[in-house]
Amino acid sequence: MLESNQSTAGGFKLFRKCQNIMKSYRKELWFNTKHRREFINITPQVEECLAESGVKEGLLLCNAMHITASIFINDDEPGLHQDFETLLEKLAPEKPYSQYHHNGFEDNADAHLKRTIMGREVVVAITNGKLDFGPWEQIFYGEFDGKRKKRVLVKIIGE
Ligand code: ZN
Repeated sequence: MLESNQSTAGGFKLFRKCQNIMKSYRKELWFNTKHRREFINITPQVEECLAESGVKEGLLLCNAMHITASIFINDDEPGLHQDFETLLEKLAPEKPYSQYHHNGFEDNADAHLKRTIMGREVVVAITNGKLDFGPWEQIFYGEFDGKRKKRVLVKIIGE
């Protein structure tokens, strides 16, 4: 249907044609955790976004919009989540607050570091209208400085 050997003008037309068929979707998910640190499986909400978008083939980006929270993919297994908590507390313990240069007016240096370790975002392929996961893969919101309203962005592009 689309030819690669078109002229510059034709190339522009081809781009416009792509714009007509490409869908784009954006949504913010809000979280307000009870505890300072929590892991929440947000796969069902992300799958709802995908269904709403109508995209069958494409890419889904999901990222925390705050620098003290993460989005990551792993197993939904409570023992593993406890292991993450233990690892993160070893690498960047919350207390004493005074051990961090960042903690002048704030007390969340550990949360910034934990966020960087666990990552900002995930990208998942969309195939046949489904998230194209490997075995046991689930999407998690990792909160490291909670008890306040925070956002996650879901962006989907495709057709
Ligand atoms: Zn801070």
